[in-house]
Amino acid sequence: MPYSYDDQNIFAKILRGEIPNDTVYEDDHALAFRDIQPQTPDHVLVIPKGPYVTFDHLATEGSDDEIVGFTRAIGKVCDMLGVDPGSDGAGYRMISNAGEHGVQEVPHLHVHILAGRPIGRMIAREA
Ligand code: AMP
Repeated sequence: MPYSYDDQNIFAKILRGEIPNDTVYEDDHALAFRDIQPQTPDHVLVIPKGPYVTFDHLATEGSDDEIVGFTRAIGKVCDMLGVDPGSDGAGYRMISNAGEHGVQEVPHLHVHILAGRPIGRMIAREA
């Protein structure tokens, strides 16, 4: 099934500079900004600059440069937040919701970096 991308979604508007955001990091491939409704003391969204709906969309149709650039940006954000356990950070959770069952609200790929407190179990036992 071909992927389709709606360029009127709120993160597309943020990328076009039509809506403000609290930027944490930006490069040619990615933008990272603070979630407007943070669930943890540090709650940052990392999005690719390309028009991808989900992680599988990027992984399937993205160029190697886009995939590597997006992944490297996630690493940079973890480093900037000081949460990388390999560098003595206290850790974090990375989530990327996709589609209806994933309860994805914004149809532009985003990775949530959640950190700053113990987060608990991976998922609720029941939805
Ligand atoms: P989801 O699509 O369910 O993975 O989550 C979308 C996330 O985007 C939610 O955590 C929202 O709080 C967040 N969000 C929605 N609009 C904005 C915005 N303008 N700036 C920052 N975060 C936003």
